[in-house]
Amino acid sequence: MLAALDAGGNPSSVHAAGRRARATLERARDAVAALTGAAAGDVVFTSGGTEALALALGGAVAGTAEGGGRISRLFVSAVEHPAVLANAAAVAKRAVGLRLETVPVTVEGTVDLEALGLCLREGNGRALVAVMAANNETGVIQPIEQVAALAKDAGALLLVDGVQAAGKIDLKTIAAAADYLALSAHKLGGPSGAGALIVREGAPFAPQILGGGQEKRRRAGTENLSGIAGFGAAASAAAGSLATEVPRLAALRDRFERGMLALLPDLVIFGAAAPRLANTCLFAWAPMKAETALMALDLEGVMVSSGAACSSGKVARSHVLEAMGVPEDLAASALRVSFGWTSREDDGDAALSAFEKLARRASARAA
Ligand code: PLP
Repeated sequence: MLAALDAGGNPSSVHAAGRRARATLERARDAVAALTGAAAGDVVFTSGGTEALALALGGAVAGTAEGGGRISRLFVSAVEHPAVLANAAAVAKRAVGLRLETVPVTVEGTVDLEALGLCLREGNGRALVAVMAANNETGVIQPIEQVAALAKDAGALLLVDGVQAAGKIDLKTIAAAADYLALSAHKLGGPSGAGALIVREGAPFAPQILGGGQEKRRRAGTENLSGIAGFGAAASAAAGSLATEVPRLAALRDRFERGMLALLPDLVIFGAAAPRLANTCLFAWAPMKAETALMALDLEGVMVSSGAACSSGKVARSHVLEAMGVPEDLAASALRVSFGWTSREDDGDAALSAFEKLARRASARAA
């Protein structure tokens, strides 16, 4: 990233500095492509996951409206990130005759395949299905191969939000099954403000940001070269460490969960019976409310999140837990602990001690 910042240069310029910048850009593109097994030419750099998802939804709908086989049905799982839910709603509002439907999930948070199959069989017209590879709150990994098979049978297009899963599971099979795959650099150790949409060659697509001819006319605007260089470096590092990091993180997370369950036998771990990302644990213990626990833990130097992201300091109700049928009062106690590349066993143990202190206080208050 520093080298890219120091060198300057615009990848679209033909002089020497421009050519060096172009080489940096293409190296990063190769690295991102390698992480997913995609062709480098299918990688479209964006400003992050949100833009990649908005580009996929808008680009697929507009692309089919212009090129034939117009999308008239849009199916999104109930646990998608707001970047999918909000943009899908906006696209459906803009496009005449496009129906948006939400596909339910099971109590474990995996997409209800029977319901999806039924949605796809009922009704006419081409469909676009959006299902995430892994959920950002629960870490639950979705059965994308089965979703893709259902989509394929129905002649539907498939958008996969791979933002949380990239660097934490091997995305190659998922990428091969998807028409559109969204990624974000900051979720795999890269900088914020860089991401990518992988558009399978031949998938319907129309650009949504118009202007210069960058990214083979799929996304106009001078590239964020240092951010993209960081994205490429992070993608290489993540791909190289997947085989060792995943079991290491799983051991840390499982040790933490065993400790928490020993401390609080009535603790609920969401999605525990489903396949989950190795680093994520979302749980609730009813007497310990998320809002107060978050602040108390922060004072102890333990940084965790509530179920959903907080905006303006207020913990919003999680649509993910709601879709999984979790009662509102239990959802208000949901806390997410994520382990990362820098986490060590000591960190998990320190978090456990902090929870123990907090739980003792909460029990005393309840008594
Ligand atoms: N999709 C998922 C599953 C996410 O977790 C996030 C971010 O948290 C996004 C999309 C949005 O990505 P970005 O923050 O890069 O815009």
